[in-house]
Amino acid sequence: MLFGVSAVSKELNFRQNTMCQKCGKYSSVSVYMMYSTFSIFAPLFKWGKKYYAVSDCCDMVFSISPEAGQAIERGEETQLWKQDMQIVGRASHCQKCGFPLTPGQQTCPKCHTKL
Ligand SMILES: [Zn+2]
Ligand SMILES: [Zn+2]
Repeated sequence: MLFGVSAVSKELNFRQNTMCQKCGKYSSVSVYMMYSTFSIFAPLFKWGKKYYAVSDCCDMVFSISPEAGQAIERGEETQLWKQDMQIVGRASHCQKCGFPLTPGQQTCPKCHTKL
């Protein structure tokens, strides 16, 4: 894309073993950061950072509090607690690259395939 706004997600280097709040299994979560970029040839601005976690057991998406998400992004030793996580809904996966998609996403934030 040469010009425009797009949503970008990337996986943060963080995994945590935890009891899934949705299905009750002992499982793990991966944490992702999502933001919007405005680009003219190259990304110029980033805004609206959001953090979310996806569970391995049932592909459930949880939104994470900004404080916890920022600590993870900075690489701090941190723990996600129950009160930091809110169930959003079930993730679907991009058919092309397998990236977990939060409910309502219309374009894959990784490979930019329209869904
Ligand atoms: Zn689960
Ligand atoms: Zn994709």
